[in-house]
Amino acid sequence: MSLITGLTRGGKAWTPAFVTAVNEETCIGCGRCFKVCPRNVFDLEEREPDDDDDSDDVRSVMVIADASDCIGCGSCARVCPKNCHTHEPQALLA
Ligand code: SF4
Ligand code: SF4
Repeated sequence: MSLITGLTRGGKAWTPAFVTAVNEETCIGCGRCFKVCPRNVFDLEEREPDDDDDSDDVRSVMVIADASDCIGCGSCARVCPKNCHTHEPQALLA
């Protein structure tokens, strides 16, 4: 199975790891990943409190709005204070 790979400016191959999930349980809605992402991958959504929540406040969580726009740069994971993102290499589509 071949993976999607890129080249550095110096011509070295590297394998991007694309975002596949954001953990809504740990996300605090700080917006850092949204700001740092160079593509239009994320969106902030509101969640109504459920029975398990300590607070009655509506909370904001980051979601993946368009995974297909991710270039696998990894910036979102580097700025997230809660390690919410999961990344994986992607198989090259035929
Ligand atoms: S890996 Fe890069 S392009 Fe992909 S979602 Fe994270 S910041 Fe955006
Ligand atoms: S940086 Fe992390 S905690 Fe902040 S909004 Fe993004 S996923 Fe949520």
